[in-house]
Amino acid sequence: MDTRQLIAGNWKMNGSLAANEALVREVAAGLVQAGAARAHAAVCVPAPYLAQVAALCAGSALELGAQDLSCHEKGAYTGEVSAAMLREFGVRYAIVGHSERRQYHGESDALVADKARAALAAGITPIVCVGETLAEREAGRTHEVVKRQLAAVIHTNGHCISEIVVAYEPVWAIGTGKTATPAQAQEVHALLRAQLAAASTHPERVKLLYGGSMNAANAAELLAQPDIDGGLIGGASLKAQDFLQIVASAR
Ligand code: PGA
Repeated sequence: MDTRQLIAGNWKMNGSLAANEALVREVAAGLVQAGAARAHAAVCVPAPYLAQVAALCAGSALELGAQDLSCHEKGAYTGEVSAAMLREFGVRYAIVGHSERRQYHGESDALVADKARAALAAGITPIVCVGETLAEREAGRTHEVVKRQLAAVIHTNGHCISEIVVAYEPVWAIGTGKTATPAQAQEVHALLRAQLAAASTHPERVKLLYGGSMNAANAAELLAQPDIDGGLIGGASLKAQDFLQIVASAR
């Protein structure tokens, strides 16, 4: 079993041909120096840049991811990008159900589960995001919310569930500079691990990432938690040295 942690960058809607080239070259070169074997490192980039970043990653340890995909295989779905199309560009991971998509694009638990299924069917590892809002946390509903979000994905994906990656991203921590404490994150991760254990024959294969204002300064503490198997990194993934520092913090 591959027990290395996974550090995945989520560029969100950022980048340009010139900026991507500089960033990916610096990250790829840094991984060689740092000894990439320490952790898996991936970047999830906007769809128009997949070909460019695939070419830049070639021959390096940096893996490629997308930020979303269609739940449909093909056909009359204007604007959508299918899992098979992503595969053609060497995409290994696809984020699904990011809170920004749940919030701004009305993605439901059922749709997120279908997207995870579409990814798995094409040989792409879905990074399934779950997480509570501040109001939900303050109302004591954190466990209920993340369990419901993960349950939908388990229900739709059955025995394939051990092939997914889960990212716990408290919505109140995303892009706010407010990180969950290692204890807060570990508590939810342990809950998710137990839920996966009840549903899967190989729960130990599922990597559980933490996301939400993870940065070069706080990564080591978070990544040291027993049930945290990596990170989903937004803002800090746009700075090569910060991203590399997080990869170097992997246990
Ligand atoms: P952040 O974003 O690291 O900028 O908080 C994380 C994410 O949204 O995946």
